[in-house]
Amino acid sequence: MHQNNNYLVETAAQISGVNPKSCMKCGKCTASCPAFDDMDLSPHMFVSMVEAGRIRELMESTSLWKCLSCFACVERCPRGVEPSTLMEAVRLMVIRKQGGHRISADEIPELLDKRIPQQALTSAFRKYSR
Ligand code: SF4
Ligand code: SF4
Repeated sequence: MHQNNNYLVETAAQISGVNPKSCMKCGKCTASCPAFDDMDLSPHMFVSMVEAGRIRELMESTSLWKCLSCFACVERCPRGVEPSTLMEAVRLMVIRKQGGHRISADEIPELLDKRIPQQALTSAFRKYSR
């Protein structure tokens, strides 16, 4: 189903409950993010794109899957913007759009990486399957 842009913007705002317009572009979220080197869009860029209504592009972003949900960005943000909450909202939108199981047990071997703790895989399996 094609989702129009207003719908995407409103859905991201509803799920997150975050106001990206409060962002003052200080970059502290990105400076404190342990995963930003692996992201195509750093946390402050992600916030700016939500503010600009570019949700469809964000739904394609690899940052969604690189965020560790460590909340360092939430702790450091002086304006209460919560970049990770915005990422979580857009991630949920992608998952809901795809529907059904996102990870099956058969896919787990492909995801294995010696740097990933087993708890992360278990958590992902619970989160992305039903
Ligand atoms: S919650 Fe995600 S975006 Fe925020 S600092 Fe941690 S890894 Fe980076
Ligand atoms: S720390 Fe907060 S105010 Fe600063 S750039 Fe990040 S989201 Fe915006």
